[in-house]
Amino acid sequence: MDTRDTLDTDNLIPEAVPPSEVLVGSESVDKETDLRCAVCGTPADEAVSLPTGYSNPVCQRCDELAISADGTNPWEGHPPGQWPETEDGVIYSPPDAGENPVFIAGVKCWRRYRFGGWVTRRDAYDCETLEDFQYYHRIGRDWIHAFNVPQPDGVMISNEKWDVPIQQRQRLDDIEKTVEQIREGIVTVDDLIPKIAAAGLTVRSEAPAPEDDPEEFAEFVAYEVEQERHDIPSQVDLCLRYYGIDDDNE
Ligand SMILES: [Zn+2]
Repeated sequence: MDTRDTLDTDNLIPEAVPPSEVLVGSESVDKETDLRCAVCGTPADEAVSLPTGYSNPVCQRCDELAISADGTNPWEGHPPGQWPETEDGVIYSPPDAGENPVFIAGVKCWRRYRFGGWVTRRDAYDCETLEDFQYYHRIGRDWIHAFNVPQPDGVMISNEKWDVPIQQRQRLDDIEKTVEQIREGIVTVDDLIPKIAAAGLTVRSEAPAPEDDPEEFAEFVAYEVEQERHDIPSQVDLCLRYYGIDDDNE
């Protein structure tokens, strides 16, 4: 396959960093440089499974939001409707293949399917095919990174739109922290009660009264928090990562 010797600086998409700031291979970064997710900007040491060493890598949390061009779930293995009939008891592995490109919050990405899994990489050149992607995103044997900033451009995620669930998510985080502090004996259940009301949580009737058994009561609350989390859309997580809203600090 053809490979490029130099970076194509003319055809980067406008959302990419300026050509002079595009990283090319590990030799272009010093030890202090954090490699970041090309969508949410989270540095590798905080991100979930960021495939550094690949061009414009996308973390697993962002990858989970990927959809196909028509808005459906990206396929893998065999295209929809083309799965072969299986004989009873026959175990076979589907091929390393799947949907391309995929879109994450409006951002075009290409997946490399291999060993039954894949890595997802953001497109910096608005490529038409996977072959094009590989050609433009590899210099010699090196990867490139054209989005290595805390808040990469072109990501269509609105923290105003998700404001309500973001706040709920923060209330839940706060309750969880308070439950933890009750376990540690740092605070009392009195600190917890108003927070439960603010989040609109209903604690199951089997729970003991808070004054009777504060710790047991707190465990029931923790359970409700976990249930309530299922209703928080996953875009909220992207918002928190992208805008760095996470006030999970002490
Ligand atoms: Zn990410």
